[in-house]
Amino acid sequence: MSADIPAKFTGHAAMGPQDENKFNLKEHAYTPRKFDDDDIILKIECCGICGTDVHVITCGWENHGRFPAIVGHEIVGRVVKAGPKSGHKVGDRVGYGAECGSCRKCANCTHDLENYCLNGNRGTYQGKTNDSVQPFTQGGYADYYQASGHFAIPIPDELDSAVAAPMLCAGVTVYSPLKRWGASPGKKVGVVGIGGLGHLGVQFSTALGADTYAISHSNSKAADSVKLGATGFIAAADKEAVLAEHRNTFDILLVTSYQDDMPLSDFYLPLLKIGGNIIIVGLPNSGLPKVPGRALFGKSLSGSLIGSPAELRDMFKLAVEKGVTTWVETRPMKDANQALDDFAAGKARYRYVLVNDN
Ligand SMILES: [Zn+2]
Ligand SMILES: [Zn+2]
Repeated sequence: MSADIPAKFTGHAAMGPQDENKFNLKEHAYTPRKFDDDDIILKIECCGICGTDVHVITCGWENHGRFPAIVGHEIVGRVVKAGPKSGHKVGDRVGYGAECGSCRKCANCTHDLENYCLNGNRGTYQGKTNDSVQPFTQGGYADYYQASGHFAIPIPDELDSAVAAPMLCAGVTVYSPLKRWGASPGKKVGVVGIGGLGHLGVQFSTALGADTYAISHSNSKAADSVKLGATGFIAAADKEAVLAEHRNTFDILLVTSYQDDMPLSDFYLPLLKIGGNIIIVGLPNSGLPKVPGRALFGKSLSGSLIGSPAELRDMFKLAVEKGVTTWVETRPMKDANQALDDFAAGKARYRYVLVNDN
């Protein structure tokens, strides 16, 4: 290691399963795995808090998680060490989303679909490595991060680090399926759930040219939805009233909210036109509800998982062109526990980003 890069990286780690009402991360230092020719090391500037972080460190005995666990996969930082095959140089500002490695050889990896690697993608944290010193990856609530340069995405100069960070997971999770399934001028898109994912979903759908409706349970997000650029706002509490107005009109519904009793067959599917598609990116713990076959006649149901490096680059380009921005509240990284408590309590409007002050 060069003089100013420490031999151990230090982060805020869950030492065991966490209580969702009272997080108790502790400072923890670990030795990074062996540095490869295509690796880089970042000095982390900031890292967004994603719902997956909370899920991984709270799910207790069901968790296949490996502790101590440093989570965080919306990482932006400066390259402080660049391997000769990394494709980056010292000083570059880059980011990592939820994936930091894949086989790079399979039919999906060779077609810009590394997020669907047939041999399994490597998570930015909790991902298996082949290294005995650090057998699984540690994430971005930390001072440094090391991974393959292929998955490090250049951050455009126009975007602040704290604004760019949440786009690396939340942003591409909504951008990728909207783009893949044709959100574009003349299409009517509904984004269900206005939170970390949904507030970016409304903006990216609008940026892609679609007529975009924000759909939320109550009216509390109506004013924000207008500011986010939505064509219209739909309060979903009164389903019959919504169906009376919008039945059979949507080309795409992007469902970002985690609902245990998702109203698929009596609400979302009837809102779709024939040929329309529901994209589910907020999969409930209980899985999808049973859907009678006739509810699907002429309609599709799709899933999606994050996005590829190529899609991340395209997403950032569109964000700069169309002024898409993340609504963030920054917190000092040392206050990660308080930020997680507030996140789990649903207080984020709409994303917390931990800033590394060191
Ligand atoms: Zn995430
Ligand atoms: Zn692969």
